[in-house]
Amino acid sequence: MIVTRFAPSPNGHLHLGHAFSAIVAHDLAREAGGRFLLRIEDIDGERSRADLAAEFEADLAWLGLAWGGPVVRQSARLAAYAAAAESLRAGGLLYPCICTRAEVAAAARMSGPDGPVYPGTCRGKHRHHEGAAWRLDMAAAVARTGPLFWTDDLAGEQMARPDLFGDVVLVRKDAPASYHLAATLDDAVDGVTLVTRGADLFAATHIHRLLQALLALPVPRWHHHGLLVTPDGRKLAKRRDAPSLADRRRAGEDGRALADSLRAGRFPAGISLSQRLDGEP
Ligand SMILES: [Zn+2]
Repeated sequence: MIVTRFAPSPNGHLHLGHAFSAIVAHDLAREAGGRFLLRIEDIDGERSRADLAAEFEADLAWLGLAWGGPVVRQSARLAAYAAAAESLRAGGLLYPCICTRAEVAAAARMSGPDGPVYPGTCRGKHRHHEGAAWRLDMAAAVARTGPLFWTDDLAGEQMARPDLFGDVVLVRKDAPASYHLAATLDDAVDGVTLVTRGADLFAATHIHRLLQALLALPVPRWHHHGLLVTPDGRKLAKRRDAPSLADRRRAGEDGRALADSLRAGRFPAGISLSQRLDGEP
């Protein structure tokens, strides 16, 4: 059975890009007689707003998208993230890093899919450090798993290249898990078999595939869909490219008709669908 999910972060209102992403996930499950789940990625404590989760549910209902089961909140799963991090730590694959963002940028000699690649300044230096972030020793991790592959519905089989990212942060200074660790664990716990998300996260899947191997998690398929972009090729952003779904809903617009328009590829003036896999303009 196909299980998909829509997993927004409650740090801003949903916009048309989110609607498109939710429709893709919902329809792929529905067409296969599967299940569509809703997950709120709310572990970014400083930016998360409790009131937005209820708004997201109203937005999806307005679009005519029904999800199955209870709404999952990442904030209810902190113990699972901590346990996964501990197992990686016990396996000698995590080390504490006390560098600031500016220090990483200044020390980096290479650029990866997410920007400056951390040069490993703290690797082997500290056993434990209060308030540190914890990074994955990428070379050790890749050596442990050997070559890995993953499959995207649209792009076909890919060889995993997590090494391009260097030693990524898996436990943040200010949050109990990074996006990579939390999302990978959640998809496994929720039984997601087809991970649908925007093409801007295509490269992140290299890391997620590695984490699945390290943590002995099931391996889903992926479906990275195109992104709605503005005329200059930028993906739609919260706030900047208004109106939000909530604004449209409160103004009395027909949400189901809007969803059908997006399905048919009829986008509002100035918005188009980019099929680029890196999400760059
Ligand atoms: Zn460091």
